Amino acid sequence: MCQHSPTCPPADSTAHDAARVVASHPEQGWILLCNGVVVFDDTGELLPDGRTVAPHRPSCRLVGMRAA
Ligand SMILES: [Zn+2]
Repeated sequence: MCQHSPTCPPADSTAHDAARVVASHPEQGWILLCNGVVVFDDTGELLPDGRTVAPHRPSCRLVGMRAA
């Protein structure tokens, strides 16, 4: 899926969220990385094999609530 050089970290890498953004939908609260990982604006993630990663930056959600 990734056509960058050097290639971005694969979805099963611990650094998978360092891959480049290929689609951004801030109005829907998610971005798609070139390794197939979907990252939600609460930092939760959906991996291409169907696994999910729980949000790992809870302070971001607090900031969002304050702004809203
Ligand atoms: Zn890439």
